[in-house]
Amino acid sequence: MEKLRIHKKKMKDLVRLMTTLEAQIAKCPRCGMCQAVCPVYAVTGRETDSARGKLALLGGLMGEMFKDPDGVDARLDRCLLCGSCEAECPTKVPVLEVFLNARAILSGYRGLSSAEKLIFRVLLSHPAAFDRLLEWGAGWQKLFLKPAKPQADLSCGRLVSPLPSNRHLVPLAPVPFHKMDIPALIEGENKIRVAFFVGCLLDKVFPEVAAGIVAVLRHHGVTVMTPDAQGCCGIPALAGGDTLTFNQLVDHHLEGFNPEGYDYLVTGCATCTAVIKKIWPALAKTGSDEKQAMIRQISAKTYDISEFLVKVAGLRIPTGTAEGALKTVVTYHDPCHLRKTLKVYAEPRQIIKANPNCLLREMSNPSACCGMGGSFSLKHYDMSVKIGAQKASDIIATGASVVATGCPACMIQLKDLLAQAKSPVIVKHVITLYADACLLPLAGNRLP
Ligand code: SF4
Ligand code: SF4
Repeated sequence: MEKLRIHKKKMKDLVRLMTTLEAQIAKCPRCGMCQAVCPVYAVTGRETDSARGKLALLGGLMGEMFKDPDGVDARLDRCLLCGSCEAECPTKVPVLEVFLNARAILSGYRGLSSAEKLIFRVLLSHPAAFDRLLEWGAGWQKLFLKPAKPQADLSCGRLVSPLPSNRHLVPLAPVPFHKMDIPALIEGENKIRVAFFVGCLLDKVFPEVAAGIVAVLRHHGVTVMTPDAQGCCGIPALAGGDTLTFNQLVDHHLEGFNPEGYDYLVTGCATCTAVIKKIWPALAKTGSDEKQAMIRQISAKTYDISEFLVKVAGLRIPTGTAEGALKTVVTYHDPCHLRKTLKVYAEPRQIIKANPNCLLREMSNPSACCGMGGSFSLKHYDMSVKIGAQKASDIIATGASVVATGCPACMIQLKDLLAQAKSPVIVKHVITLYADACLLPLAGNRLP
């Protein structure tokens, strides 16, 4: 009886999603403006890889799904969820929502694979267990990785499979941010209260960047709250069609990030910011009006760290910061979710320019996607590298010794691309350059 009830609810949810999807797709007159900006289409030249092609497929989703669910899945999967198409769409089709809804419908119909169940339902949805597993993995990873040159902080896979062995990985940090000796509440002298959403990659791969964000916020005198037991923002699960895990993760964060307790929620990850600001209010279903209202309040308070510093706190470089004789040439890569989804692109550049020891030199097409796209890079590594190859060339052509960006996933991809191109260009989070300008004592924080 219980099974039948769950089955009926699932069917109802699927029909609801399908109806929403049909209404969203109907807004697309197939003008094709999205084709020119799609990084996947640029590499494959296949209409079915562009947003227009995928929307045409989804127009007949019900029929196609019954005929060839694997084929529909394979075509939907060839997408970085970069949002380039949505940013250019003249009729404002919410393309990312459409694709995420379609993936949810497909997973609802086919079920999740065993690997997806393990990753989403067993690990991601249990933040404490996920943390423990990766802490354990950080100790054992050296058995599978070997140091790479010319960038000493990289490793390339040795025995790791199915990852290609020429991939240059950034290893897990020996001590994640959540294990660092940083208090959950740091009272500041001014009235602004900031909640810091760390995100998986800053916590586990780049904890020094997360620590830099806290140091910068302290420098500005704001009160910094870093709630315990943080987990993933939920996008990997949602992109895999697992709405249950996505909704659980959103629900999990509502307590720690109750919007009554702070003025701003800040992150240092372009994707986390875009997901909390745009995807949570659009797609999260928590089952109560009160919680849905909380999600909308959180969304309204969410800022990328560079936007927060420029628009709210105001940049404040200490007067004692000496200008060096030789400036470090820095170029900037726009993360898709920061520039295209959130329209944040002036602020990170202002931060770089504020550092008296940096000279910002723009690369050609800085907003071109780096090809990462989360699980896209795992599943379609060859295509991911082809998309990113132009990015690496554009960075190298500037003659910069540092490429800054505002997204840890882009940092991982850029490090891989540059290492494969045998380039010594160093990849940094933009906040590291600001911490450097503010003379904040952070390990590994000096410009080369
Ligand atoms: S740009 Fe927008 S309206 Fe035009 S084909 Fe693409 S999704 Fe459809
Ligand atoms: S989200 Fe990006 S990769 Fe996917 S269809 Fe749109 S432009 Fe292409």
